[in-house]
Amino acid sequence: MIVSKTDQELTYMKKAGIIVALAHRAAQSVIRPGITTKQINEVVEKTILENGGIPSFKGLYGFPAAACISVNSVMAHGIPDDTILHDGDIVSVDIGACYQGYHGDSAWTYAVGNISEDAKSLLNICEKSLYEGLKMAKAGNHLTDISHAIGEFVFSNGYSMPRDYAGHGIGTSVHEEPAVPNFGPAGQGILLKEGMTFAVEPMVFAGRPQTRSLPDGFGIATRDGKLSAHFEHTIVITKDGYEILTKV
Ligand code: MG
Ligand code: MG
Repeated sequence: MIVSKTDQELTYMKKAGIIVALAHRAAQSVIRPGITTKQINEVVEKTILENGGIPSFKGLYGFPAAACISVNSVMAHGIPDDTILHDGDIVSVDIGACYQGYHGDSAWTYAVGNISEDAKSLLNICEKSLYEGLKMAKAGNHLTDISHAIGEFVFSNGYSMPRDYAGHGIGTSVHEEPAVPNFGPAGQGILLKEGMTFAVEPMVFAGRPQTRSLPDGFGIATRDGKLSAHFEHTIVITKDGYEILTKV
């Protein structure tokens, strides 16, 4: 059963969301050609801790860092390391923070220096698909009304999405029920109610939808080596729509 959050719980989730957004702002300010993914992670972790949060991902399922940092064809769960970013790369930074036991979760794909028109288009479609989905996020709608809107937008623009990855409920754990699919028929799943909180996170591929696991056991990449983008916000359902929690 999916329970709506109380006002007190939402206060904590908003604070967690602000910490995530501040960490994104800090990450974005240092992303440029020549920086390593490990250095970006350090900035993220420092920002979370300085603002009174705890990095949600560090130790989650054994993940070793505060941020998942995934470059170019890597879709998600990239481990920060000595990889140097180059002009023309795209880098997805996925950040979770916990405040008073409640989590926020947001991913964003950033351009490194000057990126190709194709890469710009991929980022644009992925970001827009998140907001297309969120238009359907309101009390009284079905959960998969969100999924359907995301999928229709992505597929009609000629892009693909991985089959086995979805958004999720979020609260006292980063990943809670229900799964929030990124495509599929509308009108299914739970009825959305005021106070429910979800992480909505389309992952969009420039090429084919198949994925492969990286040898480190965490990273997931496109099998064809083409680019992948990822945009995610944590939201709360309101009477008239939704509010984004992972923003400042
Ligand atoms: Mg995330
Ligand atoms: Mg998530």
